[in-house]
Amino acid sequence: MARGRRDNDLMDASERIPYERYFEVSMTPEPGQPLHSYEYLRRLTSGVLDEYPTIDAHTHLGRDVDGRSLSLPDLLAELDRFHVDRAVVFPFNDPEQGDDFRVPNERVWAAYEQAPERIVPFMRLNPNGPWEQEYERCRDRGHRGIKLHPRAQHFAIGSSRARELFARAAADQLPVIVHTGFGVEDVADAIGELLAGPNGLTLLLAHSSFIEMNQALRVLGPRSNVYFETSVVPAYDLIEVLTTVDPSRVIFGSDLPYADCYTGIQSLAVMASFAGIGVDRLPDLLGGNLLRILNRRPRTEGSG
Ligand SMILES: [Zn+2]
Repeated sequence: MARGRRDNDLMDASERIPYERYFEVSMTPEPGQPLHSYEYLRRLTSGVLDEYPTIDAHTHLGRDVDGRSLSLPDLLAELDRFHVDRAVVFPFNDPEQGDDFRVPNERVWAAYEQAPERIVPFMRLNPNGPWEQEYERCRDRGHRGIKLHPRAQHFAIGSSRARELFARAAADQLPVIVHTGFGVEDVADAIGELLAGPNGLTLLLAHSSFIEMNQALRVLGPRSNVYFETSVVPAYDLIEVLTTVDPSRVIFGSDLPYADCYTGIQSLAVMASFAGIGVDRLPDLLGGNLLRILNRRPRTEGSG
């Protein structure tokens, strides 16, 4: 549906969420079952976490200029705790990024080598720096995608440097996850323009561009090569995504360590149910959609 909460008067909730739906969702754990637990998530997802690969599309490794950090053991412990099989991992806004992120990209690769079954390494790049060499180095070694942050690296989506980078990624069939949401406004139109030509780019909107939810849904919702990653998206925006975008283009992410796997899975499962998305689609949201993107690249080995 095209309308959104910011464009309209308050709507009658019963139009959007049938009353019975509240009772279909296992909103509370069994007696004795802790809320913040895998057992509860398994119940909430009707066993999907057990039976299908779960992949987190958004995690950071290393450290950030803001003081946050995450080590490989801590990342794996969180994945293990909630039975998340694999995670896309990329650098923070690392104090050691230099002008090309070589040091933090190296750290992500080292993590991948230590846990190749669990880690999907993405490179982080700075379009304003000499990114070409680092891009080629990481691509040739086997990084599976690219993370870009327009605010942290001070670039506009439509700048010529960024456009060059997007074009290379499209040519090499490397998916790009772009930070949208907090701190980034007016990005939906710029991405829409970027994708106007036939370029074959696969783009993941980190945090689903929730700061400008309505515009993002209007401009990017219909685009088959744009995916909405759901980490830290507020519930009222998440339900807009889930009722507007085809479930084949909605992807679970946690944004570890800023948020966590539990919260990402719990909110997505609950809101998907409210949105009328059947349990049969949950495996796609929690990993299947991302797996199809990652397996697209011809020269990768592909895996589950
Ligand atoms: Zn993030």
